[in-house]
Amino acid sequence: MMSDLIEYDSLFIGGDWVTPDSSEVITVVSANTEEVIGRVPEASERDVDRAVAAARVAFDDPGGWSSWPAARRAEAMRRLAAALESRGAEIVERVSGQNGMPRVIGEQLEAMFPATLLRYYADMVENAATEETRPGLFGGNTLVTRTPAGVVGAIIPWNFPQALAGFKLAPALAAGCTVVIKPSPETVLDSYLLAEAIEEAGIPHGVVSIVPGGREIGAYLVAHPQVDKIAFTGSTAAGRSIAKVCGELLRPVTLELGGKSAAIILDDADLPASLQNLFGACLLNNGQACYLGTRILAPRSRYDEIVDTFTSFAGALTVGDALDPATQVGPMVSARQRERVEGYIAKGRNDGARVTTGGGRPKDLDRGWFVEPTVFADVDNATTIAQEEIFGPVLCVIPYGDVDDAVRIANDVDYGLGGSVWTTDPDRGLDVARRVNTGTIGINGYLPDPTAPFGGIKASGLGRELGPEGLAAYQQIRSVYLDK
Ligand code: NAD
Repeated sequence: MMSDLIEYDSLFIGGDWVTPDSSEVITVVSANTEEVIGRVPEASERDVDRAVAAARVAFDDPGGWSSWPAARRAEAMRRLAAALESRGAEIVERVSGQNGMPRVIGEQLEAMFPATLLRYYADMVENAATEETRPGLFGGNTLVTRTPAGVVGAIIPWNFPQALAGFKLAPALAAGCTVVIKPSPETVLDSYLLAEAIEEAGIPHGVVSIVPGGREIGAYLVAHPQVDKIAFTGSTAAGRSIAKVCGELLRPVTLELGGKSAAIILDDADLPASLQNLFGACLLNNGQACYLGTRILAPRSRYDEIVDTFTSFAGALTVGDALDPATQVGPMVSARQRERVEGYIAKGRNDGARVTTGGGRPKDLDRGWFVEPTVFADVDNATTIAQEEIFGPVLCVIPYGDVDDAVRIANDVDYGLGGSVWTTDPDRGLDVARRVNTGTIGINGYLPDPTAPFGGIKASGLGRELGPEGLAAYQQIRSVYLDK
């Protein structure tokens, strides 16, 4: 448990610990206890100017980071991976204390994933050529080069603060970019551990700066004249507003936004054998993950059995303090988020769906922003709880007739980020997976992998992170027509 207040009075800008421009402070409250657990300075516009200026200088320096041989950058990234790993336990404490992420998930995703990504992209740039000579059709050759995109503004949400910073930082650093990270105000405490790791790893001054702040500071960074590329993860509403600004500026942008994915249970699925994977695909992180399959599509031939299985499974989950190793479902990140989830539960009831388990607050927890794992049965896919992202531990079971009907329902939504198909026949699973309009989908599970491009279609976003495609998002491609 956290006891001591975590307090910082400086900002990590340009590789130094600097005095903030203003006296504004971000106060962090624990999702588990509702107690204040930390305070950090809030960056002002002037602080963002300093961070971007340092990133600009570091990027434009003729002997600097962007011009280093890939192997030298890769070595620095491996040092950063080690420095982050050595802070793994502290990262988990801070993340789970702030946002309610169950400890076991924090250990895998927050403490481990960024280091894995840094090593993955370090290996990639060390081994992949950034120049290629291509024979032309009109005679002569073209030299095709990949150069770093420039100064990156990276805007991070609170639900996976370290992992999603890593999704951006690792490929950006590998490509030779410099980065200004804006963490979410709910999860600023762990960003200081990242800053300390960057310092310990000897990443050159100005290559990474961190500006804690809310949406205004995020918007200021997005529109900053000295920034070359924006990488954003967050809500679709914020993504649309960022896309408008980047459209006007013709500034490259990657947007990882919300989702409302389907978990399609086929009539041959082995549910008892799939429960652990279903939990990861549908309820991970207290339902606060963008790709979760929160619409459970159930064949009418097995409908009652599937409703019963999800009802008893969700009803038996251990809800409690995220820092308790036994906890499977922790609290919502904030009072506001809990109100939002409870608003959707009320809306679902009003719209005629049937609550089969949960629907309220756990009786035995009088502190923390908890919501009981909740299952709605008899949900109409046209209703609000089936169409809008709830971002809490709430599942909607929707009946379907045949497989065509299941695919139609899965695709009948504004989003297209994740999804899953559950079956004992892998070929059938793949056939259905191919028909779902989504950026990513799993068969009998859902587990994003560093090598696999991740991102959405429709209202779930633009562009891809992870894999070689994630590196390409931080590179400019140029052609030099060689002398014929
Ligand atoms: P949010 O959009 O409110 O905030 C995300 C981040 O953007 C925060 O750092 C916030 O300060 C900043 N921000 C907000 N408005 C901004 C603006 N106009 N300009 C610049 N910055 C701005 O989202 P949230 O509530 O923090 O996160 C939850 C949302 O994120 C959910 O909708 C979820 O689906 C989505 N999400 C998507 C992915 C993905 O990879 N697709 C991953 C995690 C979360």
